[in-house]
Amino acid sequence: MKFIGAHVSAGGGVELAPVNAHGIGANAFALFTKNQRQWVAKPLMQESIALFKENCRKYALEARYILPHDSYLINLGHPEEEGLEKSRAAFLDEMRRCEELGLELLNFHPGSHLNKISVEACLDRVAESINITLGKTQGVTAVIENTAGQGSNVGNEFWQLKHIIDRVEDKSRVGVCLDTCHTYTAGYDIVNEYDKVFDEFDKTVGFGFLRAIHLNDSKKALGSRVDRHDSIGKGLIGLDFFKRFMKDERFNDMPVILETPDETLWAEEISTLRSFE
Ligand SMILES: [Zn+2]
Ligand SMILES: [Zn+2]
Repeated sequence: MKFIGAHVSAGGGVELAPVNAHGIGANAFALFTKNQRQWVAKPLMQESIALFKENCRKYALEARYILPHDSYLINLGHPEEEGLEKSRAAFLDEMRRCEELGLELLNFHPGSHLNKISVEACLDRVAESINITLGKTQGVTAVIENTAGQGSNVGNEFWQLKHIIDRVEDKSRVGVCLDTCHTYTAGYDIVNEYDKVFDEFDKTVGFGFLRAIHLNDSKKALGSRVDRHDSIGKGLIGLDFFKRFMKDERFNDMPVILETPDETLWAEEISTLRSFE
């Protein structure tokens, strides 16, 4: 079966995220465990942690279907030493917060070369950052998200995800999150060449590494390399893709997360998707 949710608000405390997820009929969710636009955050309070776990139990939201997302400021492939160190410290803090909350996954965008180093050198840095962080933590898997390839972001082509995974020492704690909007705008035609794209993903990366999905429609065209999500069925990807996706068992048993722009539609989007299952 599919585990579907949205990236819900944790405003007012992480313990409210499972409540918000339950409110839209979700059996999975994503959240930020700190303010995503700031480098440093106060540690999580013990009371908050206990309530988070209690609310997850209450609403039957299991850790393996919860997909925390790290701060947008972090660049694990930063070309400069200072930026790289700052990013690694912040990423370690994010992963420790996941450990404290009893979570198993941490989703992040791989990084940007900022036109100062090659794509490969940037990917090597990302892998090294993952190795350093995994060496200092336990039980949380680093989940690399594919990108639209906007600006100097890396991770828009499947071989780049594989390049990182190949250099991660503990393969049991690295995985991939495919974002359907990013996949499409990066140039993979999931609308007209569904089988071909996912065959290519399987050959290049492997479904064994797929740990999560961001399910978004797209406002921007195939290959545009611009990242603008749209509500399910309202963008250029369209409902036929989502119908096919919901029947595809390769995407069962992992968090499937909406990051669609109109949160008032989330409950409806989830029930529409469920009707396709
Ligand atoms: Zn995403
Ligand atoms: Zn996006």
